[in-house]
Amino acid sequence: MLGLMQDWPLLIHKIIDHAALYYREREVVTRAPEGPIERTNYGEIAVRARQVAAALDKRGIKLGDRVGTLAWNTARHLESWYGIAGIGAVYHTLNPRLFPDQIAWIANDAGDRALFFDVTFAELVAKLAPHLKTVEFYVALTDRAHLPKADIPNLVAYEDFIAGMPRDFAWKEFDEHTACGLCYTSGTTGNPKGALYSHRSNTLLAMIACSTDTLGLSGRDAVLPVVPMFHANAWGIAFAAPMTGAKLVMPGPRLDGASLCALFAEEKVTMTAAVPTVWLGALQYLEQSGKTLPYLKKVLIGGAACPRSMIEIFEKKYGVEVIHSWGMTEMSPLGTLGTLKAKFADLPYEKKLDYKMRQGHPPFGVEMRIVDAENRELPRDGKTMGKLKVRGPAVAKAYFKGEGAAAFDAEGWFDTGDVATLDSDGYMTITDRAKDVIKSGGEWISSIDIENLAVGHPAVAEAAVIGVRHPKWDERPLLIVVVKPGQTASKKDILDHLAGKIATWWMPDEVVFVDAIPHSATGKIQKTALRERFAEFRLPDAAG
Ligand code: AMP
Repeated sequence: MLGLMQDWPLLIHKIIDHAALYYREREVVTRAPEGPIERTNYGEIAVRARQVAAALDKRGIKLGDRVGTLAWNTARHLESWYGIAGIGAVYHTLNPRLFPDQIAWIANDAGDRALFFDVTFAELVAKLAPHLKTVEFYVALTDRAHLPKADIPNLVAYEDFIAGMPRDFAWKEFDEHTACGLCYTSGTTGNPKGALYSHRSNTLLAMIACSTDTLGLSGRDAVLPVVPMFHANAWGIAFAAPMTGAKLVMPGPRLDGASLCALFAEEKVTMTAAVPTVWLGALQYLEQSGKTLPYLKKVLIGGAACPRSMIEIFEKKYGVEVIHSWGMTEMSPLGTLGTLKAKFADLPYEKKLDYKMRQGHPPFGVEMRIVDAENRELPRDGKTMGKLKVRGPAVAKAYFKGEGAAAFDAEGWFDTGDVATLDSDGYMTITDRAKDVIKSGGEWISSIDIENLAVGHPAVAEAAVIGVRHPKWDERPLLIVVVKPGQTASKKDILDHLAGKIATWWMPDEVVFVDAIPHSATGKIQKTALRERFAEFRLPDAAG
């Protein structure tokens, strides 16, 4: 017998309609790429999204067509997402931090028919345009006065594009499984692969994001997603904020510590989210300027492992709760969140930190398990490391155009490419990317654990650990360190700091000091680049 409840399709434009009806005047504030602070609200955004939809429809953009966006977090970018998706087309976020030929490859692979871009990328777009085979027209996310002079064919200013379009344009009708968004993974091996989100998966993602032990967003929050909309759906915030009526503060292109901290204070931001590298800069700025974070209550840190010392500074010095989280583009991206379970409430702070350090536990809607090389499930004992596999309604079941099929198994599990442990309380701890884990004498060493400890040394700004060849042990860890400006540290200082905190056989064989560590387009340490740079490196006892 079937239930007798309505078949109410989960469509993301219903989220912006809901916001327009119930949180019409709730502000969306943008630090515009053109410079000034701009203010709008959900009521206006919903109307203008319909105008985007009408304008695209008029240009012949249809169900399933891809529309690229090369843009920062702004109200116009948000309107574009809802407008594109509202006619059943697919917003395709392009990461401007990639090399131009990578961006062109991705836009061509996706077959983008139009490209919306911020004025800050005008020169980049002019350079890309001759190589973009499928793009028919370009929309600069600005008004006519700021329309770039760059040589871009079929260019129109966004405000002209939507001017005069019907404010009550009717959304198109389609199934909730219709594709809605496309985002390519960084593709450190092989070509980038596209995660293709559906209306249903994004709506469920937003509902998951709103729950208290996930992002815990409420209508009383003011949320500033530092994480860009081009990095895995801005971790769901672009949907969760209008769903709850939270005020949305969009930082535009200025993601440095001073600009972010100014917005936190001026807009009374209560919640924010970004990768650890962003917080390295922001915390250094706070330390130097003596400023505080008076309104901020909660910060979500993920995308790369969050060091223990970072959690401690936020929580002890600034009184801001840290939620360490893990996810992936292929998971829309929420996977686990490190909120504390009730049974740990009375633990001393240092012990609580042991749990907060872990990548967290999955919300309802994310299933996970660890397996061995033969795909046999491994124990959830907090010790055994295995390949991490996931399932859920907002997890990819295939890549765009069937690429990378090997990552999906017959039982519907997606292989994350991460190595992890799961404990009996449900907390997951990432050991490493499978390709970054250091294989020493048949055992695994977690580069992430050593990095986290190394950045706990007061003079260390950033640290990376890679495996280098060793004649006896196969691989041994090399610790690469960037020292904070004006500070000094020796190899002995760093090793003394690690001693006793990790097993002796995990101790790095050598420490090298560098000026900077390279980062990927999504703010992760680029281990491939470091491995290339240190390919010829010989460890002290490995001369033979
Ligand atoms: P992306 O798809 O660019 O978001 O990258 C996803 C990958 O980033 C994951 O598979 C992990 O390897 C890594 N990652 C994300 N969050 C964390 C975290 N909190 N700790 C360690 N690694 C993380």
